[in-house]
Amino acid sequence: MNYELVLKNGEIVFPGQTLRRGHVAIKDGIIAAILDPSEQPEAARVIDCTDRWILPGVIDPHTHIGFGDQENDWATETATAALGGVTGLMSFWRSDNLGATTNSWIAEGEARAATDFGLHFGVTSHRHIAELGTLAKRFGVTSIKVYLMYKGATGAAKGFTEVDDGLLFSALQAGALIKGGVVGVHCENTEVIPLFREPLKASGRDDLAAWDEQSPGFLETENVFRVAFFGEKAGCDVNIVHMSAVESLDLVRRLRHNDRPKINVETCIHYLTLNRDTPIGPIGKVNPPLRPQADVEGLWEGVRTGDIQTIGSDHVPRKVATKGPDIWTASAGFPGIAQVLPVLIEEGYYRREIPIEHLIATTSSNVADLYSLPNKGRIAPGFDADFAIVDPAGETRIDPGNYPSFSDYSPYDGAVYRGAISHTILRGAIVVEDGQLTPDVDAPGRYLHRAN
Ligand SMILES: [Zn+2]
Repeated sequence: MNYELVLKNGEIVFPGQTLRRGHVAIKDGIIAAILDPSEQPEAARVIDCTDRWILPGVIDPHTHIGFGDQENDWATETATAALGGVTGLMSFWRSDNLGATTNSWIAEGEARAATDFGLHFGVTSHRHIAELGTLAKRFGVTSIKVYLMYKGATGAAKGFTEVDDGLLFSALQAGALIKGGVVGVHCENTEVIPLFREPLKASGRDDLAAWDEQSPGFLETENVFRVAFFGEKAGCDVNIVHMSAVESLDLVRRLRHNDRPKINVETCIHYLTLNRDTPIGPIGKVNPPLRPQADVEGLWEGVRTGDIQTIGSDHVPRKVATKGPDIWTASAGFPGIAQVLPVLIEEGYYRREIPIEHLIATTSSNVADLYSLPNKGRIAPGFDADFAIVDPAGETRIDPGNYPSFSDYSPYDGAVYRGAISHTILRGAIVVEDGQLTPDVDAPGRYLHRAN
């Protein structure tokens, strides 16, 4: 058989399974065959992958495309992502009237994105709940997010007036009716935060650790209990997104039960490599906050044991000018979509000796399973030919100037990670070659419509 592309003689990393030397043959953008090293397939194009990993492309489960420059984010942030070995991402989409606006947002993405993409709906009103079943079918969306952070005064300041426990429970009831439905929740008890925040502010504190102290980990854990318990009563699978505190993970371990709805856990790379003492000041402000190193280590243990299923970036592509002047007024969140793979390889594979095939499941097969992504996240015949090719002996030096992102800084600036991403391949198209974007990066990404 004549293939269009062969990834030759690499270490093929099958997520959640094993690692094996061989060739991957691609035809019509689909994986056509996995071949033994002894075979000699013919192809229009061959990439020599000797001594390199052939990884499934990263699917970042948590991004905020449009939070930087709404007009251009689809192009700039997905090209940035591609440089990090990302071939798919899930982005949060919020709008008062989802029915009227979602089509054009998807069309803009399909015209500009360099990666495939799916959407999670942000649910902030009872109107959203009432329309959810219809919208889920129409737009192929099976995942929604509720922001317990936007209760009361905090939400009102952002224009959300209907977020409360009633909205959470309705969202779980509505989610239970969607095939494959999963409700992700931002867990942080925003009603208790002022109790800690005001004295810290009054005392003149302006350090990154103070951001952790104003919303300590147990305020996340308390919300995790409510979400898991309500999810069980409503019969809906839940996902604790961007988990930051090890106490929350310990609670989930206790609450999980085989015959109850699933409690999924996602964490983000910053909770796995930065802590409240990292000397980056307001640049490190994020919700939930960066925690002490003990939490970092505890979350890694959760990755190792499989208690944490997915890992994302929570990429927010704003300018560094919004990250000040002090910790209290700085914007929350920062960019990171291109660092998911480098952080996992350096911190997970090298420093903590977690097998690459286990690590990579958190950004491929586990994401595809959780979000019902068809033909994504695995290296097997019939699946989309999405890959990141990595030289484990190379290195990646983080310099925000090297990415086309709208954002102009990085909390990882100056870091040197072992492992170099040489190629990113999206449905057979080489979008990154030898670490550089190719003209194929303009080939439009596809919207991931999920049957439900
Ligand atoms: Zn959140």
